Amino acid sequence: MSILLTRNNNSQKILDFKIILFNLYNMEELWAPWRAEYIIGSKEKECIFCSRLKQKRDRQNLILYRGKNAFIILNRYPYNSGHLMIAPNKHKSNLDKLTKAEYTEMFRLMILSSKLLNIAMPADGLNIGINIGEVAGSSITDHLHIHVVPRFQGDTNFMPVVGLTKVQSLALLDIYDSLKKHLKKLQ
Ligand SMILES: [Zn+2]
Repeated sequence: MSILLTRNNNSQKILDFKIILFNLYNMEELWAPWRAEYIIGSKEKECIFCSRLKQKRDRQNLILYRGKNAFIILNRYPYNSGHLMIAPNKHKSNLDKLTKAEYTEMFRLMILSSKLLNIAMPADGLNIGINIGEVAGSSITDHLHIHVVPRFQGDTNFMPVVGLTKVQSLALLDIYDSLKKHLKKLQ
């Protein structure tokens, strides 16, 4: 069992920062809680998506699927267990920079991701969206990505509401292995 965004796992400094962020955004910032982990964590100079793609360690990097023009990756800083992201293979920041081949494949992978989460988790519902620009809540602002977030009956509201505590009931690699297994059946 892994716990993300918890009080007991991190330093008081991190907790304080989260609370500041939370207050700043006053619950209107869709992705702020897990962005705090990202902001405070060790930053890589290179784009995270580009560096993960270059490496050949898909399981450690949580890359679930590599397509000709786009890929699916499990979010290391999820809102909810099984939070997936779909991004173009090329480093592109905006929708109007995508080629037809890229956005067609991204849309196909979005549908594949939703099928996958419905079968593998299984999700009771999904939140699907794109945050473009930091002001819109994007944490990786210059490499476009679609979020596909599974929702479950009985999970908390879309924002974690109590002290920014969010319990992820399954470990990331366990989720990765399960999704990978189900993905093979869908292809
Ligand atoms: Zn990139």
